[in-house]
Amino acid sequence: MPSRLSRFLFTAAAFAVASSFAPAAGLAPLSSLTPQAEKFHVALATPTYENTPGQLRETADKTIRAAEAALDVLAKQDPAKVTFDSTIAELDRIVAPVRNVVDRIGLIQETNPEKTVRDAASETSVKLSSWAIALDYRDDVYRIIKAFAGTKPTLTGEEKLLFDETLRDYRRAGLDLPAAQRTEVERIRKELTQLTTDFSNNINQARGPLDFTAEELAGVPASFLESPGVKQPDGRYRVMMNITWHWQAVIENAKNENVRQLACRTRYNLAKEQNIPLLGRIVALRTDLALKLGYPTWADYQTETRMTKNAATALKFEEELVTGLQKKFDAELATLRELKAKDTGKPDAKLEPWDINYYTEMLKKERYSVDAEQLRVYFPYQHVLTGMFHIYEKIFGLTFTEVAPPQVWADGVRLFAVTDRATGEPLGLFYLDMFPRDGKYNHFACFTVSEGARRPDGIEEVPVASLVCNFPPPSADKPSLLQHEDVETLFHEFGHVMHLMLSRAKYSRHFAFGVPQDFVEAPSQMLENWVWDKAVLDTFAADYRDPSKKVPAEVIDSLKAARKATAAVFYRRQLSFGLLDLMLHTQTDPKAALDVAAATNDVLARVSVAPPPDTAFAAYFGHLMGYDAAYYGYLWSLSIAQDMASVFEASPDKFLDEKIGRRLRDEVYAAGASRDVSISVEKFLGRKQSTKPFLKFIGVE
Ligand SMILES: [Zn+2]
Repeated sequence: MPSRLSRFLFTAAAFAVASSFAPAAGLAPLSSLTPQAEKFHVALATPTYENTPGQLRETADKTIRAAEAALDVLAKQDPAKVTFDSTIAELDRIVAPVRNVVDRIGLIQETNPEKTVRDAASETSVKLSSWAIALDYRDDVYRIIKAFAGTKPTLTGEEKLLFDETLRDYRRAGLDLPAAQRTEVERIRKELTQLTTDFSNNINQARGPLDFTAEELAGVPASFLESPGVKQPDGRYRVMMNITWHWQAVIENAKNENVRQLACRTRYNLAKEQNIPLLGRIVALRTDLALKLGYPTWADYQTETRMTKNAATALKFEEELVTGLQKKFDAELATLRELKAKDTGKPDAKLEPWDINYYTEMLKKERYSVDAEQLRVYFPYQHVLTGMFHIYEKIFGLTFTEVAPPQVWADGVRLFAVTDRATGEPLGLFYLDMFPRDGKYNHFACFTVSEGARRPDGIEEVPVASLVCNFPPPSADKPSLLQHEDVETLFHEFGHVMHLMLSRAKYSRHFAFGVPQDFVEAPSQMLENWVWDKAVLDTFAADYRDPSKKVPAEVIDSLKAARKATAAVFYRRQLSFGLLDLMLHTQTDPKAALDVAAATNDVLARVSVAPPPDTAFAAYFGHLMGYDAAYYGYLWSLSIAQDMASVFEASPDKFLDEKIGRRLRDEVYAAGASRDVSISVEKFLGRKQSTKPFLKFIGVE
């Protein structure tokens, strides 16, 4: 139920440094925009954030009590007099505020500076989520919904969609089944909740400490060795294979092959003992559940509500890409192998799984002279932020106004109001919480704070979002300087903020992130293209020491060439993850004794690179919980993203084209999930979808 989106399918580097940014002084209060909001019958308000464990518990209890009371009223109405509004729409209205509370508490859990508050928020989240699952099984509510369905209503548009989705949810929960089977379905769901939590906890608790001397770590950047906690009292360096940025520092840079090998084996063995048997049990239970609910496989159950609609479509999409990339993949591996032969002086050197990242980095540096560190001078944080704001204001026809927030959870958190440039109508509010601090969420993501809603009195409550990031904080003599990759992340995450701000659906369920899971990333993935375009970069990127210096065209060209040179290795790896996920979840016999470790390693070996023997990558692959039978969606949505980007590219002002931007706002963002997203995409494209731009992007054509 929490709505949080992040571009990172894997954990990114984090900075464990406290920030000390004072809130901007002299800003007008949020209330200064109230008269403007009233003109448009809009409520422009931020929620009140709970600050103590007691307040959190009280909110959870109050929320559940209010929802229960409303559900009792819904359930007790006369079945002979039911209407769409008193049943389907009312259920949507009852659930929406609970979702808002869950989202707000999710944000508190990840951002409050006090550990006791974060822990209480986490406990409260679990309580609310369990309540939400139990809601599916309230017979009295289901009976009333069915009573309305029994009237065979003639519905159209958003109402028809909401009606179908509500009944589908009940069917998917097993409410249509005879009592005994339904109890069994509920039991399996509960067991799965427990087992999947265990799997994730085993991942969180796995540690892979490896101690090396400075000599053994030759090649690893000094900035990493100097990071807090790395240097040990005995003079050696401790790298933790469970921390992704530690792992990356070693696997991408360590010159010593034995060190890389040890790192790789350790990482691929994390949580193996506990999670391999657990994964086997989870896969069997999912298969069993799917069969009981009338689906051939778990992947068919999961994809039913997505764009692919069934497992076969997802599988076909992935397998065709595997084939399409074969030639380029073989050629890239040959290049990396030659590089290793030259580097080691052994003409017959064999490329091992622990070599891929290392020689990919070497290739980027040597052949394409791409040095991410040197690019930082063009991307001082404040310039990038302001520059990005101007671009999004321009293409979507908006104005962003910073206001003094009524309440913040930490120093330096800023608040902005989004208004329509043409009419002045306030559309939404977003926070920026951009720098690291102790105990804060350590990736980059857009959090939903509140979806916005239409009150019974007709007043529109605006949506509220928060961008939670971890950019390097400024130092005494230097501003915060971003990597090109960070700038890309910012453009992506802010795309999610826009999606929420510009969503205009009638029912809560159809708001922004209610779109299918294999589509939700597409608009943001599309916006990543902006930072690879010189015209866009020239609007804000400049050397902070001499702003007349722009990013040279050759640098952008080499960045693109480097990306292309290793695209097949990168995407075949993505495909191997997607396919091992689909392989596990297209099992048809819950009793079959599947050797999970061997079967998943086989997929990796066939599609990407064979992992070291006796390792079990899948044991540490957290996406198998919560993102199960969904990993393919990353490339599925990227395909749509590149198709949409091609429309901007072909327009007169390219990525800065206001007419195309406006069309995206109206047809994709505003529509949200209130209609089939394929229709929204085609209305934006002005034609049928095409995979050509995507195939070109990943190097298939
Ligand atoms: Zn994202």
